[in-house]
Amino acid sequence: MANQTQNKKHRKKIDWRRVFVGVLAAMLALALILPLVGNLGTLARAVSQSELKDQISSLKGDAAAATARKKELEDQLKAIESDKAQALKKKQLLDQQLAAIDEEVANTQSQIDTYTTLISQQEEALAVAQVKEADAYERFCQRARAMEEAGDISYLSVLFQADSYADLLDRMAMVDEIVAYDNSVVEALAAARSEVEATLADLSETKAGLDEQKALLDTQRAEQAEKVKQAQAVFDELKKEASAAEALVAAEEAEEKKIAAQIAAKQKELDKLIAEQKITFTTGSGYAYPLPSGYTTITSKFGPRTHPLTGKYNVHTGIDIAAAGGTPVYAVQGGVVAISAYAPSSYGEYVVINHGGGVVTLYAHMQRGSRKVKEGDIVKQGQTLGLVGMTGSATGNHLHLEYKVNGVRKDPKTLFPSVKFTIWD
Ligand SMILES: [Zn+2]
Repeated sequence: MANQTQNKKHRKKIDWRRVFVGVLAAMLALALILPLVGNLGTLARAVSQSELKDQISSLKGDAAAATARKKELEDQLKAIESDKAQALKKKQLLDQQLAAIDEEVANTQSQIDTYTTLISQQEEALAVAQVKEADAYERFCQRARAMEEAGDISYLSVLFQADSYADLLDRMAMVDEIVAYDNSVVEALAAARSEVEATLADLSETKAGLDEQKALLDTQRAEQAEKVKQAQAVFDELKKEASAAEALVAAEEAEEKKIAAQIAAKQKELDKLIAEQKITFTTGSGYAYPLPSGYTTITSKFGPRTHPLTGKYNVHTGIDIAAAGGTPVYAVQGGVVAISAYAPSSYGEYVVINHGGGVVTLYAHMQRGSRKVKEGDIVKQGQTLGLVGMTGSATGNHLHLEYKVNGVRKDPKTLFPSVKFTIWD
């Protein structure tokens, strides 16, 4: 009962209509964006830097909204999965209880069957005893009648034929013996019959007890089967909810990917403007370190890993460098800011810089409100972009640094060959 109430509470929290409307809104937004992206090729020449910034900003908004919805869905899914696991455990326990009751029912039934056999055996024995008793009595009466009617061997004639007192006494003793014998036969048979009757009564009483016990067990079994049915229904419902949620999460992930691709396309447009020298900047020499010297501990390296939040196998898109909250984050090279935004479910406060020549760097999880540059800003090498924090999907203060060349992620560690890193993972 407690579990069911809990499940209901959980289910109340999940406003599927709201989720559905959210997804629908995202799909509509996507439907509006797609034709825009499709037209980029023809618009490219006419598009100004500020228009591009507006488009990037709009896409970024969509991406953040999609990410937030995905997180919300994942949380709901987790709640449902936990409910589902609980419901399954409950159902399994109820199943086990039912099996135990079934075993008890079967045991009682086999006892009842044994007693039924014994009773029918005793009933047969009783019938036989009753027939024997009746026969003996009948024979006794017949003999008495025959003796009376024949006259020659009747008790009285036997007595009257005595020729002396001694003979009479002998004859009386003989008649007594015959009567006693006939009586003893009938009495013995009556006693045997009573014994069978007593045994039968005993057995019937035991069987009545077992019948009562079986009736009780049958009731228990019916109640238990109903509980199992209810638990199965709860589990089925949660399974349905979980697969619906999974489908929504999958849809969100696909949408997120599309939006990420659109952002990449926007960056390409910036590349084009840079190449056409409509945007100019100096990258500086080599790559400057993104943090004050001393912060050289990598807590999560680039490449395959187990995701710290979901526990699922994925690929870490950059490196995590541990640093105190509030430490300034520097641009590794000069360039143009492609994105400066807040993504609450992933990068948190983050900045993406296009350095030209297909090189892009990303700085994530900065302190809330600490970003010091905006999209389209030209930044110099070593310029402060914001302060180290733990916004978005971070569990501690660190700089998440990404490095891309022509859209392909590379290990950012390779940018700083003279830095001696301490690697934790
Ligand atoms: Zn990271």
